[in-house]
Amino acid sequence: MRKIDLIVIHCSATREDSPLSPLELDRMHRQRGFNGCGYHYYVRRDGQICSMRPVERIGAHAKGFNEHSIGICYEGGLDRKGRPADTRTERQRYSLRALVKVLRKDYPEVKKVCGHRDLSPDLNGNGTIEPEEWLKQCPCFDVATRL
Ligand SMILES: [Zn+2]
Repeated sequence: MRKIDLIVIHCSATREDSPLSPLELDRMHRQRGFNGCGYHYYVRRDGQICSMRPVERIGAHAKGFNEHSIGICYEGGLDRKGRPADTRTERQRYSLRALVKVLRKDYPEVKKVCGHRDLSPDLNGNGTIEPEEWLKQCPCFDVATRL
């Protein structure tokens, strides 16, 4: 088993009023050349948690961090006009928290749970990844304070 010390949260970057099934997500990633869905878990708007890739397998979700992390994606991340927004439903928030809790128990070496954008390079070297340094908005909410 590989060492896991990081959990990374993503959004699917789809509109809150436009459903994306696990099958479609899988297909999108295959089209990008991945060997199946790059995330390990996918949390739908109704709170359903879908297992997309065995945790034993390295994911394809956060460049430079895949080897030792687990990737979780929630459905949404864009509002009805296509703007980045925290579109999580109550059920999604509940499921995300519950999933992270279980994973932290299963993988006690996990030291950090963060959003994809928090892994952007710290350009000014002050130890904090600030909004102007984000490579993208994903997952469109602050994991440190709002998970
Ligand atoms: Zn992401």
